[in-house]
Amino acid sequence: MSKALPELIHPFRLARGGETLRGSIPTTRMPRLGELLCRPCDEARFELHFGFDDQGQARVLGRIEAGLVMRCQRCLEPMEVEVACPVSLALVHEDGEIAGLDADYEPLKVPDEGISLTALIEDELLLGLPSFSRHPPGACEMPAGADAADANGAESRGSGRENPFSILKSWKSRESS
Ligand SMILES: [Zn+2]
Repeated sequence: MSKALPELIHPFRLARGGETLRGSIPTTRMPRLGELLCRPCDEARFELHFGFDDQGQARVLGRIEAGLVMRCQRCLEPMEVEVACPVSLALVHEDGEIAGLDADYEPLKVPDEGISLTALIEDELLLGLPSFSRHPPGACEMPAGADAADANGAESRGSGRENPFSILKSWKSRESS
């Protein structure tokens, strides 16, 4: 546990070694996630098992958890959101390999130079975020004086910015090119 985590990882190599990475990474090191948070949050905890399945497919299984503070879409106040993402990634070198993958896997294209462990954890967290964060029904109200314009204002706080999922896509495809 005390072993320092590498920032650049080579997932195929880790799979061949049957290795496990576990630890935590501060969410302050995840700028794309940080844009969605009300304030800096705790670390993201993760456990990733690298290996091969029965078909010989290199894969990563595991789990990522984080307590995040996001903005309630109704009252616009901060609220805590516990995110727990199961990880099930198939490692591939090229697009051509994706079609044959088991549907349980999400493909992860790995360039020869390796990938950033922090970016991998961040990507998985972004995918695991709830699409709407809201306090439970009845627990809060729209702020007084709020109208459609305010709601739009809150939503377009980051206008001109792509949503996290399209950023993620471009990031993943960039890795492969
Ligand atoms: Zn609320």
